[in-house]
Amino acid sequence: MHNFLVAAAFGFGALIGSFLNVCIYRIPRQISLARPARSFCPNCQEMIPWQQNIPILSWFLLRGRCAHCHAPISPRYVIVETLTASLFATAAFLVPIPTLFSVCVILSILVVTTFVDLEFFIIPDVMSKGGIAVGLLLSLLTPGLHKTSSPLIAVALSLSGALAGALVLFLISELGKLAFGRYKVKLEVPTRFTLVALPPDDWQILIESEPFSWSDHFFRKSDRIVVQANEVQINDTAYQNIDLTFFHDRLVTAFETIPLDRIRQLSGLTASAQFPREAMGLGDVKLIAAIGTFVGWQGILFTIAAASFFGAAFGIAAIVLGKRERSAKIPFGPYLALGAILWLFWGEALLSLYEATMLRL
Ligand SMILES: [Zn+2]
Repeated sequence: MHNFLVAAAFGFGALIGSFLNVCIYRIPRQISLARPARSFCPNCQEMIPWQQNIPILSWFLLRGRCAHCHAPISPRYVIVETLTASLFATAAFLVPIPTLFSVCVILSILVVTTFVDLEFFIIPDVMSKGGIAVGLLLSLLTPGLHKTSSPLIAVALSLSGALAGALVLFLISELGKLAFGRYKVKLEVPTRFTLVALPPDDWQILIESEPFSWSDHFFRKSDRIVVQANEVQINDTAYQNIDLTFFHDRLVTAFETIPLDRIRQLSGLTASAQFPREAMGLGDVKLIAAIGTFVGWQGILFTIAAASFFGAAFGIAAIVLGKRERSAKIPFGPYLALGAILWLFWGEALLSLYEATMLRL
C-alpha cells in the first residue's frame, strides 16, 4: 500500500510539475494562468496537443524540441517535472496522509519561487503573500503540519513561524544596512565624479576618490544608483542638471538609454547620489513569512540558518572554482527553499538529534 502511495505521488507530482512550469513561465511575464488554457510553444506560439504534453516523457520523446517549429524546449520543463515528482514521492514516503497534502502545497510554492527567482531575481507576491494565507488556512485544516492535533495551537504556531522569520530576516537586513553604510550621499559642494570600468564585469563610480562599486551595490536586477549631476559629460555630449540612473548594465537619463559598455567616458559634478541599500529583498522577507506559516518558529529558524550556510558554502565554492561572476548576484530564495525542504522532510529527526546532543553536553 505504501509503495503504491509513493508511486502515485510521483505520478501526481509530475502532473503538478507540468502545471508549475506554466506558473514559472507565465507569472513573471504577467500572462494569465487561465488563458490560454493549453500550453503553447514560447517560440512559435503554437498550442501543444495533449499527447505532446505528457509530463517528463514528452520532453524525451520530442528530444527537447517543439514538434511544430523544432525550436529547442528548455530543459527546465523536464527538470521541474522530475523534481516535483521526486519531492512529492519523498513527502509521501515520510509524511502521514492528512498532512501530506499541505506539505505538497508548500513544496509547489517553493519550486515555483525557486525557478522564478533564479531567472528574474524576483519572488512573485502571489506566491509569497498567497503562501502566507494558504499556510495559515492549511495549518487550521491539517494541524498535523505542526505536530499537534489542535487546530488553534497549529494556527498559533503558524503565526509564530511567519513572525519569527520576518523578524529575523528584517534584523539581518538592518544589520546589513549598518555594515554597508550609506544609502544617500550628500555633499556640501558639487564634487567631481567619474564612471570607471573594472574589467571583466565590474564598474564603479568614483566620487572624489571614494569608490562605489557595482559588486557592492547591485543585489537585485531592479537595483539602481541615481546620481544627480549638476553637469556631466557622457562620451561627446555635455548635459546640465540631469539625473543619471545606473542599472547594473545600463545608464538611463531623460534623453537616452546607454549600455554601460558603450560609455567611453563619463564624468561630471554631483552634490547628491543614492545607492541601493537592501542587501536582502523584501521578496525574501515575504517568502520566509510564507514558509514560516507552514513550518512554525523552530522550522523557520532552522530554514534561515540552513539557507545562510548553503548560500555561504556555495558562494565560497564558486569563488574558489573561479566560476563566480561578480555582477551576477545569487538570489537567496532557492537557498531558503532548500532549507525549508530539509526541515519538512527531516525536521523532527534533526530536532531530536539536536536535543540529544544538548543533553549530552
Ligand atoms: Zn514551436
